[in-house]
Amino acid sequence: MRLKYIICHYNEIGLKGDNRHYFEKLLAENIRQALTRESPGGFESVKIVSGRILVILNRKSEKQIRKIESALKNTFGLAYFSLAVESLPAIEQLKTDAWEFIGNKKFSTFRVTTQRSDKNFPLNSMEINAEIGAYLAQKTGKKVKLNNPGLNCFVELANGQAFIYTKKIKGPGGLPVGASGRTAVLLSGGIDSPVAAYRVLKRGCSVIFIHFHSKPFTSNESVEKVKALAGELKKFNAGGKIFMVPFADAQKEVVYRTPEKLRVVLYRRLMLRIAEKIARRERCLALATGDSLGQVASQTLENMAAVEAVSGLPVLRPLVGFDKEEIIEVAKRIGTYDISIRPHDDCCVRFIPKHPETKADLKQVETAEEKLDLSSMIENALENTETVRVSPFDSA
Ligand code: ATP
Ligand code: MG
Repeated sequence: MRLKYIICHYNEIGLKGDNRHYFEKLLAENIRQALTRESPGGFESVKIVSGRILVILNRKSEKQIRKIESALKNTFGLAYFSLAVESLPAIEQLKTDAWEFIGNKKFSTFRVTTQRSDKNFPLNSMEINAEIGAYLAQKTGKKVKLNNPGLNCFVELANGQAFIYTKKIKGPGGLPVGASGRTAVLLSGGIDSPVAAYRVLKRGCSVIFIHFHSKPFTSNESVEKVKALAGELKKFNAGGKIFMVPFADAQKEVVYRTPEKLRVVLYRRLMLRIAEKIARRERCLALATGDSLGQVASQTLENMAAVEAVSGLPVLRPLVGFDKEEIIEVAKRIGTYDISIRPHDDCCVRFIPKHPETKADLKQVETAEEKLDLSSMIENALENTETVRVSPFDSA
């Protein structure tokens, strides 16, 4: 029997009224985009059908099934999905199709699990399980076992159609990208910020990226790395738009005019001010960084507070409670780690003080900033910012 469909299920918690319709449409569109990107030509269409999303496969799908599965495993909002054959909503047909579908599979015990959103069907779910179960037991000579069976034969009746499948493949959970609004992620080229991007994508934010580079004091490496990282994150439906902000002139000013101890906090405050301007232009509702509490000198609560004070947008720090080891584990799993560890000159390492302030005092920081012509520094950086769009192939 030919696998004709993938039935995609989402987690329904918290979905009510109009919200559901919007959520389903967004998820269906994200699935369509992911499949078009990862497996072009490998599917027919994507449809919403009574609380599920159906991917209709075509003749080419079979060869691309790995790519299709991996695209779905990276599409946030999916709880699980199943490769299914089509049957008919008639009990005799369901029995023979179920037999044909599982007949060549290896198992010693089994059960039938029916989900019936078609309330017109003459039998209820329990009766369908019993009928098909008895038929399969007789045909296969295998025993029914309700708990932990060797094979679970799922039957789904929805919208006048019937489907049969045996495997539920776990999706990534989360919310469809776009459901929570847009966030600007400050992407440094290190290990942490791509993981922060992954976290906000998972909770339904679409993202733009902002990178600060110190060319010509640093090489082009950080810029290339950030492009590669954004390219890698495309598999999670990240848009791939990066704002490359020249930061060297601003850093020089900070170095010449302010106390060494405060540099890192002053850089960060400048970054946030510039990022906020870009974010607002791009209709973002928040900024996000890869800060983790206490990881480095700039990431104490005092310093976070002194930095955040300049931002009119919420600053999301999805990694705040993660240990470095935990961040690395995620980075490896999502494919950004190997890119992040390529060598590059960090713009801030270049101008970093030996003994940075770990408990910045806001008054002191503000006094130091009086020596800077902030508005022209910010304007200058924004005027020379370049916008780059990456394709998924840039991550190679
Ligand atoms: P990462 O591994 O993400 O670079 P880190 O541990 O090196 O993080 P910091 O260098 O203190 O930490 O940076 C903290 C956060 O500030 C980063 O996660 C990132 O969000 C932001 N950031 C730092 N430098 C830059 C940069 N050059 N461009 C954009 N964002 C930056
Ligand atoms: Mg860094």
